[in-house]
Amino acid sequence: MKRKIKIVAVALSITMALGCLFACKKASDDKGTVISEFVGKDNSANHVDDSIAVANKYFLKDGKTDYKIVLPVNASDREVEAKEELVEFFKQATGVTLSTVTDAGLSHSDEAKYISIGETSLVSEAGVTVPYAEFGSDGYKIESRGDSVFLLGGEGDGTLYSVYHFLNKLVDYKFYSIDEIYYRENVREIPYLRFAIREIPDFAQRMLGLYEPQANYDYKTRLRVDKHGEQWAFGSHSHFKILPKETYYDKHPDWYSPAGTQLCLTNEEMRKQFVENVKELVASLPNIKYMSLGAQDLNVFCECDNCKAAIAQYGTPSAVDMRFVNAVARDIKAWLDETQPGRDLTFVALSYFQTLTPPAHKNEDGEWVPNDPSVVAEPNVAVQIAPLHANYSYEFHTPENQETADALDGWSAVTDNITVWSYSANFWNYSVNFAQWGTMATHYREYYSAGATVLFDQGAWNTPSVSFDAMRAYVQSQLMWNTALSYDELVAEFMQHYYHEAGDAMFEYYNVLKSYQEGIRQKYPKVMDANCYVDVINADYWSKGFLDQCMRIFDKAYAAIENSDPLMYETLYTRIKIESLSTTFLILNLYTAYYTTAQLTTMIDEFELYANMHGIMWWRETSTESYSIANLVAGWREKI
Ligand SMILES: [Zn+2]
Repeated sequence: MKRKIKIVAVALSITMALGCLFACKKASDDKGTVISEFVGKDNSANHVDDSIAVANKYFLKDGKTDYKIVLPVNASDREVEAKEELVEFFKQATGVTLSTVTDAGLSHSDEAKYISIGETSLVSEAGVTVPYAEFGSDGYKIESRGDSVFLLGGEGDGTLYSVYHFLNKLVDYKFYSIDEIYYRENVREIPYLRFAIREIPDFAQRMLGLYEPQANYDYKTRLRVDKHGEQWAFGSHSHFKILPKETYYDKHPDWYSPAGTQLCLTNEEMRKQFVENVKELVASLPNIKYMSLGAQDLNVFCECDNCKAAIAQYGTPSAVDMRFVNAVARDIKAWLDETQPGRDLTFVALSYFQTLTPPAHKNEDGEWVPNDPSVVAEPNVAVQIAPLHANYSYEFHTPENQETADALDGWSAVTDNITVWSYSANFWNYSVNFAQWGTMATHYREYYSAGATVLFDQGAWNTPSVSFDAMRAYVQSQLMWNTALSYDELVAEFMQHYYHEAGDAMFEYYNVLKSYQEGIRQKYPKVMDANCYVDVINADYWSKGFLDQCMRIFDKAYAAIENSDPLMYETLYTRIKIESLSTTFLILNLYTAYYTTAQLTTMIDEFELYANMHGIMWWRETSTESYSIANLVAGWREKI
């Protein structure tokens, strides 16, 4: 394992309107582990590795290599970045700096020893075929021809990601966190492999709503996720941004619902102005690929007579919404064909609140079918499902989450272009772990099986937290790539690599917490389910005995790292301490009577020190002074 070298900080800008959200049950075993009964779509064709070892051939032998990297003469920025990552980590593992040449004047032969990155001239010469349409933006292949190996993928990040996979095969490279990257060290010999790898992520676009990966370019890139909002205009609610009330309401009150809280989507005159405004936006935003056309963040729909009649005719408010979005998308498509032919732009309808229920129903054979041909999504229309009111302690395909299961299944009859905005934190309290551990992997499989191509999972997005941020970022990014992976196995692997000697103790903490939370959830159903807005600060839920048990486990973790070298000790101690603040938070809120003033002062000082060190700004989603860490700490001090 290695500390990371440079951190490229990128200003955080989650520009989307937020404020949605939430969290699931099922048969459990005696440890509280949820056992999945959901059988999803087979994803094995996305993740193929038929590479085989070849005897007596080497990439590296006695610390030397004959291999050179080959880049296209006009390499793209991404191809250059891919090369740089390969050179850097290969060197760290082996001490050898791979040299790089361009493809100018090179030719392929069975004996040539090249690592070809991206679309070099050698690719076609060697007969490597590239199914770019299948790869999408981020899929890739790694293939051998003769003694050379070819790494290449989709135009987005595919080629870059192929390098990380290649490094994993050569030196066991694995990225766990921005400051925890594993690879073998002092490697002197790497046998040649005949590569036959094909990787296509289960979700074409993957976005983590977690603070640090969003803020740090290297972090999100090496986790193989995109920054939220990259390539998007508006993340969700956009109607009043496109047609502001300040500008239009006085002259055209009928463009809005009678209460003035939403647009009136059956008003054709309004729609024409809406299209004109969208054209202006599209022209001014040349790099966006998605534009959300979503209603305001209120659980109401236009209640005018025309809208009521349209809902009665087409079955659901979402049908009226889809007819509107389709009409806008058709107009913009016709205009783009004239003005910017070939521009790739998708309009995203929002399935949320009034439009969560899909414009589809089950026929006599039990298959979902669209309510009307006019609600079937145009090719340039996607639907974003945001299951704010799902119970994330349960799988979706259970009676508790019928509405969400119906949304996923019904919408997939209307479009094969589904995007999902999912939730994975209690937004009223980031300091307590969100107990979605037994169900998250299944949720991702349910999204994938419904045909979702984009997944954004909103957790503690506006601040670092004390609820396993680094572990969640790793595990979720892995599951977004391959939904067949096991949540618990990924956690176990992460704990060993991230906490080193304290890995067993921290995995014990995870398991004890998980099983305790499953227990209180069953004791206080609904209240303690993984729910995005729930007040969990209550002594009924968190026994003093349990919190003491957690503290004893942290003591074990500290003891386990005692023999680490000083720098490593400091790093590991801080990592453990950050997670322990979740327990400290509950003690300082619920059990101060058990401690002396001096003990409490020490706990508060420590909480403040490490929270500040970790850059934690807020303990809940609302970024106002009253929920700042400074205010929280001041309140505790006042009480003692
Ligand atoms: Zn209306």
